Amino acid sequence: MNPLKFIFFCASVLITACTDKSDRIDYTLSWTGDGIRVDMEVRSRIDSLFFTYATENGGFTDQMSWFQDLTSLKGEVSADPSTRKIAVVPDGGRAKLSYTVRCALPKDYYSPKSCLWDMFRPDLDGEMMFTRTENLFLAPEDMATPVSVRWAEVPEYPVYCIYNPGKGTDPYYGTAGSVVGSAIVGDPLLEVDTVMINGRANYLVTALRKSHDMNKIALKDYFRSFYGSISDFWGEEDPEPYSMVIFPFRNNTFEMTGNGFSNGFLSRYDATADTILTTGRRDIFTHEIGHKWIGGGNAWFSEGFNEMQTGYQTVASGLDEPSYFAEYLNHALAGLHRNPHRNDPGDLAEERFWDDGDYTWLLYWRGFSYAFHLTGLVEKATGKPDAWKVMMDAVKPFLHDFSQERFLEAMGGLIGKERAEADFRKYILEGQDFDYRPEDLPSGCAIVRLPDGTPKLEITDTLLFARHFSVHLKS
Ligand SMILES: [Zn+2]
Repeated sequence: MNPLKFIFFCASVLITACTDKSDRIDYTLSWTGDGIRVDMEVRSRIDSLFFTYATENGGFTDQMSWFQDLTSLKGEVSADPSTRKIAVVPDGGRAKLSYTVRCALPKDYYSPKSCLWDMFRPDLDGEMMFTRTENLFLAPEDMATPVSVRWAEVPEYPVYCIYNPGKGTDPYYGTAGSVVGSAIVGDPLLEVDTVMINGRANYLVTALRKSHDMNKIALKDYFRSFYGSISDFWGEEDPEPYSMVIFPFRNNTFEMTGNGFSNGFLSRYDATADTILTTGRRDIFTHEIGHKWIGGGNAWFSEGFNEMQTGYQTVASGLDEPSYFAEYLNHALAGLHRNPHRNDPGDLAEERFWDDGDYTWLLYWRGFSYAFHLTGLVEKATGKPDAWKVMMDAVKPFLHDFSQERFLEAMGGLIGKERAEADFRKYILEGQDFDYRPEDLPSGCAIVRLPDGTPKLEITDTLLFARHFSVHLKS
């Protein structure tokens, strides 16, 4: 909100406070057989409001073709397809509009490499419902706006809304931010299992195509033990119910991909797979759950540090041995070393994140390498082998409002401002190669070089190395 608008807003609050206490949006959803019709009622004291449809996630440019039949029922509404902005002018403080979201994947669509299509586009028909909610709900400028969501018509199959955990299509009351950053799935085989973790109900949502009982048991066991462990690490005191949604791709044979949200995650996987919980998919689940805590800000942080967390928590939760952390990191070190853009500056890499997979992975691997590098420095500076825990305690206060400045301030507090800023400039802004000097490394390991120069972590002292993962665990 700009300052001028804010002053006007304050003034209008004084005038209208007696008639209308607060702005709000009510969404009513109706299944149409091939899409979802949204009836939206807006109450606002502001003269004109702006909403946004969808995001750039997935790198698509045809989002407005999914947004159909926009109609104004009260007040005025207009859409600007080039910016995906929808302007609403209420009449007497109220506006009513409706639109229908329709999008499906092409019939001949099987390409394993196009998993982004299945993840970021709505896919809606009589056999399956899938949509990220940014593609369904128009997002207001103020994400703290109170909203309600009601389903007037539902499909014949069960539907699960991650924003309304465990409550199916029951009415929901919350904020715009909680409904827009979420996802909805529906499927004739959809099952919701309650999983008790630390005395609280959480939800496993599946639509299993193969080996039902074996997969269900394995997923439940993983969810219970891993989510319990990572919640303890972050000192989660009053957690909301969390949803783990494992949903098959419609046609895609891509192994798996996922999206993490604040109260759950959704993964889509190759529905022809017999065993869902392979090591590769387990690590993606772990990564997506990790986004509950590490999710905002720049990609080197949200993806790279979340990869560090994935490797760390896999060991700290007891799912795997410390040597697995080395294996997981080595995959990233090799990925970074062999990346064609490995020395591109950080800003350019952020800008091109969606442009091609090499840029996407560059920021995963560079951020992971940087996080690992920092754990060595923090261990040396603080004398604490559980340096990752020390670092995460330092960034925890601003995880939901992350900025590079605050990050550098927090790291500066641990390893000294100069060192923190110099390393950040070298490795993130300028994209220089990490030098992995022995005196900077965490204890119990060394970095060796393969013949082509690829760095590789070797554990030199098993006990010392294991201490990085075990110190914080409750005895
Ligand atoms: Zn991620």
